Amino acid sequence: MRTVIIAIAASLLAACADHPLRVYVETDTGPAWLFQHDVGERTKQVAEAAAAIWGGTTFENVTIHWVDQVVGHCGAGQDSAHVIGCTETTVGDTFHHDEVHIYVSVWAPCPEATALPHEVGHVSVDKGGHTNPDWCSGDFWNAMIAALDGLTPGDASCAHAIQEWYSESLEQTYCR
Ligand SMILES: [Zn+2]
Repeated sequence: MRTVIIAIAASLLAACADHPLRVYVETDTGPAWLFQHDVGERTKQVAEAAAAIWGGTTFENVTIHWVDQVVGHCGAGQDSAHVIGCTETTVGDTFHHDEVHIYVSVWAPCPEATALPHEVGHVSVDKGGHTNPDWCSGDFWNAMIAALDGLTPGDASCAHAIQEWYSESLEQTYCR
C-alpha cells in the first residue's frame, strides 16, 4: 500500500479536527499518473475544477481514497463489482466529513477520466443521491468536459476518455 498525504493541518489535534483535502493512494496497481509525486496536487486540481462546475465546495474535511476496488458500502441493491465511486458523509453537531473512495482503472489516462468529477457532485451538492437535475443534463456535462479538458490542453487520450466517461454517465439508470 502506498499512501500520499497532502496538506494536513494540525493533525495532532483530535481526529475530527478540521482539515483541508487529503488524498490517499491505496492501491499498488494503476496508471502511471497515480504513482507520480504530484498525484495529490493533480487530484486536488481536478476536484476543484469539477467543484467549480457543480457550484463550489471548499473540500474542508474531505478525504479522497484512490483504490483498486470500491467496497460496496454505496452499492446497496447493486452488484458491488460495478461500484466505481462512493462518497460517505458523516455529519455531527460540530463536524462533517466526506470519505470518497474512487476506483481507478489501469487504463484511465488521467484523473479527469475517473469517477472523481462525479463524486465531487456528491460532496458539493447532492449528498447520497442523484436528484439534482444536473446529473442528467447534457449542457451541464458539456460544461464539465470543457473545464476538465482545460486542465490538460493537447492531451488527446485524456480528452477522449473524458468524453467517453460522460456520454456513458448520461445513460445511468437514474437518468432514464
Ligand atoms: Zn453518484
